[in-house]
Amino acid sequence: METLHVDLGNRGYPIFIGENLLEKPECLIPFITGNQVLVVSNTTVAPLYLEKVIKNLTDAGKQVITHILPDGEQFKTLEQVEGIFTSLLKGRFNRDCSIAALGGGVVGDMSGFAAACYQRGVDFVQIPTTLLSQVDSSVGGKTGVNHALGKNMIGAFKQPKVVLADVGVLDTLNAREFSAGLAEIIKYGLIRDNHFIVWLETNIEKMMMRDKAVVAEAVSRSCRNKAEVVAADEFETDQRALLNLGHTFGHAIETSEGYGSWLHGEAVATGMLMAADLSWRSGWISQEDVLRVRRLLLRAGLPVVPPVHMTPAQFLELMAVDKKVQAGKLRLVLLKALGDAVITADFSWELLQQTLAAGSS
Ligand code: NAD
Ligand code: MG
Repeated sequence: METLHVDLGNRGYPIFIGENLLEKPECLIPFITGNQVLVVSNTTVAPLYLEKVIKNLTDAGKQVITHILPDGEQFKTLEQVEGIFTSLLKGRFNRDCSIAALGGGVVGDMSGFAAACYQRGVDFVQIPTTLLSQVDSSVGGKTGVNHALGKNMIGAFKQPKVVLADVGVLDTLNAREFSAGLAEIIKYGLIRDNHFIVWLETNIEKMMMRDKAVVAEAVSRSCRNKAEVVAADEFETDQRALLNLGHTFGHAIETSEGYGSWLHGEAVATGMLMAADLSWRSGWISQEDVLRVRRLLLRAGLPVVPPVHMTPAQFLELMAVDKKVQAGKLRLVLLKALGDAVITADFSWELLQQTLAAGSS
């Protein structure tokens, strides 16, 4: 088992990464101070792993109740969070209770938001069960729900007391979801960790075969990168935005195709290649660098070409750019080198158009 620490002063917390962590109560119980625990999960994950979590808690003498959400991004709503509050109130849960999230990013985001709000804030623990949630959403304290008018528009910062990333639970995750998590892993390499890119190039096949030691190392290196970025800029005033590499292009794809048709990680993968393409056109990285990124994404089972019908004009509209607005207004995360990203408005409008046209040709 590996232990990392997210350095946020008195809001800091450990991340445990390894196999069979759900069978190690010592990773969970010390981080639950009160007696009452609500475990939130969903209809897919609960039948697989809920029993183990409940056992650890009841063995330690905790009073446990559960709240099982329907599965899906479309249920990441205030209405469903209200249901969580109802469970807490019906259980007469008080201010020193804890909420534990057992599931992917959707369960984690909603549970964290409920924990931030219930009686103005109760303790929260993360037991992420998707690759994406283990390397991304469970670390950093962003929580929230969607609104009909925008994704993740209602939320709060709420850091957990502990993150328990058991890589064994990824065995039941389907291939598409696994690859989507890999996109965010590759992202950390591209943004700030050139050694990690080289390591991924060497280990991607083992990763795809879900070799436990390799997956655990990838999760650990990813969490270390995210933890460092978050520790430096908890509330995203500046450098935390680097984590959005590929996301502006990707967001346009997700919106155009309707959420759910492309997974977020898939859209980010294609978006990262578009960002690499623009970085090359800007003279910052070589064409070979772009090909390296492309090869790695393909080996990770990810798409690298945007939907054929998306035109540059559509892209710009969905990237929230008014066509009349000067290029300088749009800030993108681009690559100065592989492993060195910058947030910049300093790119040519003409070259951006070329990248968008290349994607749709
Ligand atoms: P998800 O939570 O929808 O999980 C994907 C699917 O896998 C679901 O059907 C889920 O039930 C299933 N699943 C989960 N664990 C499983 C397991 N071990 N075995 C089998 N099936 C399993 O999706 P996700 O990719 O984990 O998270 C996406 C969400 O995370 C989005 O809502 C996104 O906005 C959010 N997110 C938040 C942050 C943040 O910083 N808070 C960062 C990135 C993404
Ligand atoms: Mg993302």
